[in-house]
Amino acid sequence: SDSGDSAKKETLIMATNAEFPPYEFHEGDEVVGIDADIAAAVAEELGMELKIEDMAFDSIITAVNSGKADIGAAGMTVTEDRLENVDFTDTYATATQVIIVKEDSAITGPDDLAGKKIGVQLGTTGDLYADDIEDAEVERYNKGFEAVQAVQQGKIDAVVIDGEPAKEFVKDAEGLKILDEAFTEEEYAIAVKKGNDELKENINKALATLKDSGKLDEIVAKYISA
Ligand code: GLN
Repeated sequence: SDSGDSAKKETLIMATNAEFPPYEFHEGDEVVGIDADIAAAVAEELGMELKIEDMAFDSIITAVNSGKADIGAAGMTVTEDRLENVDFTDTYATATQVIIVKEDSAITGPDDLAGKKIGVQLGTTGDLYADDIEDAEVERYNKGFEAVQAVQQGKIDAVVIDGEPAKEFVKDAEGLKILDEAFTEEEYAIAVKKGNDELKENINKALATLKDSGKLDEIVAKYISA
């Protein structure tokens, strides 16, 4: 029935993996973080209600493709491979893959990783980089934090992971450091189903509005201190 004045808003379903602070993480029962706040602000611009679905990182693209979710927002890097399966909005952040090692490690940069045991989060760009390193043994974890615990316990030599979550994880783990020398820059964007140009364009407009108004910077500043 269309009676009543509380018109029900359409839902925008966001797929994410809430193991990636400060972009998405659990706070009590809620998923919070930069992506959650940006998606909420985008949904508001679109007159929609945001609903967040937490899942494994490597299920997000499938969820978007199958229509289980409308968008994927998960600190997701735009890559050639992913572009074969989903479309991406304009970028909203840049990031680099960094290396985490024990404080006393002899590893000083990407070139020292050859032949080493490297931990990554399954299906991430860190996984891709590690996979390319000569003679490296790649250990794939479901959560980035599990890889960080493994390097702390001496089970692996290094972790390759996005810079901002690296800072969060190392802050809470003793005896670890992030190397200054990192991999190349990447861009984060929101994934939409291939060919869903209408949603993509609407999100791009919303992102532009949020950039212009300073709201985007405000969200980032709430979670990352300069
Ligand atoms: N930026 C990385 C990627 O897209 C990691 C994202 C994540 O772990 N949430 O693969």
